Parts: sequence; structure tokens; C-alpha cells
Amino acid sequence: MQSKRLFGTNGIRGVINADLTSECVMKLGVAIGTFFKGGQILVGRDGRTSSPMFVHSITGGLISTGCTIYDVGLVPTPAIQYAVKRYQMDGGIMVTASHNPPQYNGIKVIADDGIELPREYEIEIENIFYHEKFQWAEWEQVEKVHHLFGILSTYTEAIKQHVDIRTIRKKCFHVVVDPGNGVGGLTAPYLLREMGCNVTTINANVDGTFPRRSPEPKLENLIELSLAVRAVKADMGVAYDGDADRSIFVDEKGKIHWGDRTFALIEKFFLMKHPGENIVTPISSSGLIEEIAEKYSGKVVWTKVGSIIVSRMMKKIDAKLGGEENGGVFYAPHQSVRDGAMTTALILNIMAKNRRKLSELLSELPKYYIEKEELECPHELKVKVLEEFIDQIKGIIIDTIDGAKIRFQDKSSILIRPSGTEPIFRFYSEGKTRKRVVQLVKEYKTKLDEIIRKLQNRQ
Ligand code: MG
Repeated sequence: MQSKRLFGTNGIRGVINADLTSECVMKLGVAIGTFFKGGQILVGRDGRTSSPMFVHSITGGLISTGCTIYDVGLVPTPAIQYAVKRYQMDGGIMVTASHNPPQYNGIKVIADDGIELPREYEIEIENIFYHEKFQWAEWEQVEKVHHLFGILSTYTEAIKQHVDIRTIRKKCFHVVVDPGNGVGGLTAPYLLREMGCNVTTINANVDGTFPRRSPEPKLENLIELSLAVRAVKADMGVAYDGDADRSIFVDEKGKIHWGDRTFALIEKFFLMKHPGENIVTPISSSGLIEEIAEKYSGKVVWTKVGSIIVSRMMKKIDAKLGGEENGGVFYAPHQSVRDGAMTTALILNIMAKNRRKLSELLSELPKYYIEKEELECPHELKVKVLEEFIDQIKGIIIDTIDGAKIRFQDKSSILIRPSGTEPIFRFYSEGKTRKRVVQLVKEYKTKLDEIIRKLQNRQ
């Protein structure tokens, strides 16, 4: 690892034996153990081929600082997050690269509240790591690894407390589950069967090579799920990412719906029951979230992009619901983190209680067209380009939480954000007609292109 920043937007990630080596992960374990001051830590992993190796490395590091380790084995990320809080642990480690390709792996560090560490604590760990300010334990404080069994059923039992199981059971829903060979296959099919569903699974065996589809549940990866839903005439299909914190849904007609829409559906029924509540979502989410909030007396609290930021904001303002456009839904009565199985239970609850098909429920939401594009821009110019752009459009109301978002009277908007990792600006426009969104991207791409050229000429 070359960079002075270890943590990205969600944990530490890298290509195995290139960015992320066993040696580096062990040292990281020593740094994290020093940070937790020898506390009680749960360690879990996803199904990646390299995850057992990294569990050994990180555990060795943690134990050397006097931490007591409870190995929970293969688990979805939200299950270990729930267990950390439920069992009053000092923290947790999840070895996972979430939705990244199979050659990647990573480490998520969980605080005692079940949410990933806030940025200020990540900086503390980075300082310990780079300056090697390690606190080694005395020899007699070095323990063996303990094993903790049964957290999967504790987790699924907890989810059932938040929905109307009797009503869902009566509907005998047929659901096709596609965990994409990730760890979601260890919980969702069992949870749904316990909720009286008839479950058909595809890609449900845990396989770290991800042989059937990418662990990222994008529309183009879910054709098999869509076809399966239609073939078995199911009521719904659901796909998870590699560590099952995000979920994407397919209606009974086989149509795949992006996360914004299913989040908006949950938001609508949540606000109908709890008007006046705050809904937390990143600035990249659809205006649909705001339109639903206006209609059902809720208030949207916008944040920077990043699931940890959403979780931390929810905790700070005591919000009950949050969501992201990528299929992450945060339901605080259960836990303030993204949770694919909880989201699935919430969707089934809405279908059962309203006696409506998923396609009908989703078709009633306001429609938005979306257009996404990119524009190349050297890394070193990004900040100046954004400043110059914001300066040029003075007078227009603009949101600068993360990049620049301009909202228009006709409910259209455009978000212009510099990528954190690539030399590009991303454009994300939405509106009520296709013509409008195409025109918006074209107009603002031209504006930004002119600024980039001008600044490049000055160099
Ligand atoms: Mg994930």
C-alpha cells in the first residue's frame, strides 16, 4: 500500500497480493487492536477465496495487542454489524470487498454501535499504522481464538420483529433469490422460508470466484434473475451484492428496478405511518425521494456520498430511515446500516399489507428519466474546475454538499461530481422528460469542458 490514506469510502480495499498483502493486513490488525485497546472483537468474512487468509492475518495482529477474538465465520456484513451491537462487543472486523470483482478483498472496521468507524477514528488507525505506535500485549495476555456460533439465526430473528409476519405468511409469496454466490445465500433464503415464502434460489452456493455474475447487482447482471422470476411465475425476485448489504428487486413481470425506486416505495409507506420523520440520503439520490417526502410530510436530509456518512448522520439526528440509489436501505429500528435482508422483509411487508403486486406499487411512484455521462479532467484540476464552475453560475441556487447539484423548477436536476478515484467528472441528470435530461447533460458538459480548456491553457 503506497498511499498515506488506508481507508476509502467504505473500508480498506485492494487487489489481493498487489495492494493488499497478508503482511499488510496483519500489521493493520496490530494497528486496529491498538486502537481498540485490547477489547472484545468479532471477526467475520465473506466467501472470497482470499478471505480465510486475511482472517488469519488480521486475527494474528489483533490478538498480539491483547484483543479477545470471537470468530463468527461466513456472514453477511449486516449480520456481523447487528451482532457487534447485540453482544455488546467493543468492535468488529468484516473481511470483504463487498461488490468488487473476485481479485479484490478488503477490511471493514465496525464500531461498538454496529456502524463502520467514523472518519476521525480511521485517521487514528492510519496514524498508528504508519507511525507504528503499536501496543503489544504481555505474553500472558495473548489468547486463543474463540468461536461464536448462531449469529445468523439471531440476526434473522431480529429482522422478523420489524414486520408483520402473520400477514406475510398468509400471502405465501413465491420469491426468487439471487445472492450472486455471495454470503447473502446464508441468510435470505432461510429468512424468507421462515416468513412463509416459497423460495427458489439461483447462484445461492457461496463461491468466491463468483462464477455466474459479478458481485455487483447491476441491471445488466440480473437478466438471469429476471428470466427466473418469469419462468417460475414468482411474485418477486431479489439480488444481493457480495456481502448482502445492498438489494435490488425484480417485479413479478421480470422488470428490474433500480435502488432509488424501491427505497422510495419503502419511504412512502414509512412516512404514511410516521409523518414528519427525517429521511437521510446522499446528494446523488433521485429527486423522487424528495417528491415523496413532500407528498407524505417528510423531510429529506442530504449528505455527501458514502454509506458510513448516511449511517452516522442517521445516528446524529435520530433518523429512522435512510437509503442510497445503489440499493442500500438503512432501517434504524433494526440497525442504522445498509441491510439487504431487512430491506427484503420491508418490501414483502408492504406487498402483503397492501395486497398489491410489486409492479403496481412501483408504477404508482412518480417517474423520472435519468442520464449519466462523464468528462475527462486531470486530477490536479478538479478542485479549481469545480470552484470556477460554482463561481460562474452565481445567482442559481446550488447545493455543494458533494460536487455541485442544481435543482430546477420543473423538478429536473443535474449533479456534477469529480470522481474520487478516476480523472473524470461525473454528470448525473434527471427530469420528467428524456429530452430535458439529455439537454441538461449536454449544456453543463459543454460549460465544464470550456472551464477545463481555459484552465489547461493557463498552465
Ligand atoms: Mg456491500
